[in-house]
Amino acid sequence: MNVTLFDVEEKAPAPSASMVPPAKSDRIITHLPKCFSPRAALHTEDVFHPDVTAACHHRREDAVSFNVAKVIVVGDVSVGKTCLVSRFCSGAFSRNYKATIGVDFQMERFQVLGVPFNLQLWDTAGQERFKCIASTYYRGAQAIIVVFDLGRASSLIHARQWLEDAMKENDPSSVLLFLVGTKKDLGSPEQLADVEEEAIRLSEEIRAEFWAVSAKSGDGVRDFFLRVAALTFEADILSELERRGSQNADDIIRISGGKDEERRSAGRKANCC
Ligand code: GDP
Ligand code: MG
Repeated sequence: MNVTLFDVEEKAPAPSASMVPPAKSDRIITHLPKCFSPRAALHTEDVFHPDVTAACHHRREDAVSFNVAKVIVVGDVSVGKTCLVSRFCSGAFSRNYKATIGVDFQMERFQVLGVPFNLQLWDTAGQERFKCIASTYYRGAQAIIVVFDLGRASSLIHARQWLEDAMKENDPSSVLLFLVGTKKDLGSPEQLADVEEEAIRLSEEIRAEFWAVSAKSGDGVRDFFLRVAALTFEADILSELERRGSQNADDIIRISGGKDEERRSAGRKANCC
């Protein structure tokens, strides 16, 4: 990640803030978005970590941030990965089914606590024959979204394997995990409740945050991606502050070692199964 919240001295002159295209109004995050289920959340705080809020508040007026976080989307073929990403990026549900070949990626611009922040969403192919191509793109992810079909039990069982593969290329201590059940519009409330219960159990085990959404109706999709952006941003800034120690920003930024911080970093230290 490229954090330039505090200073960018000795680098090439930073582009002026006016050169950065603004995020769309529905991509502006001023408050921490809520989790889907408190039982399977990376953390359940109502507000951003105070150090993150302080860092954003006190960033230099002329500092321009081009922070980019890589997010990979994995899961069985046809569970709805491409529809999920394109529902968020284009705001529509695509009916023309086309299997993803290798990987696609899209950049989504956000503004979090006044700071420009981008998610690079890597939509990978689920077929076995594309696995080796896709896996080369797994490296350096800040968040992994494992997708399964709420109506297909096997796809939830396979979620573990997808996570294991994605984790081979990444540092488990710095990746946020999300387990997302799609096609919520299909299936009865009773069926959904059963599958969700199972998915929550798995999420607790692998330390992922669970969401159930529908790309078709749009239910939960925007809330989910805003949450991904917010938590990824928060984790990025916290680890950057940790890396820099307390030398920055006139001691405004304090790295707390209290319970709050422990809870949040537990979310960041996802366990691979
Ligand atoms: P991928 O292989 O995981 O990328 O799956 P796609 O996104 O290509 O979707 C596979 C199929 O599931 C397509 O026929 C989609 O129309 C369908 N689909 C995806 N998301 C949903 C959803 O939320 N609801 C319903 N009913 N169908 C969906
Ligand atoms: Mg696809």
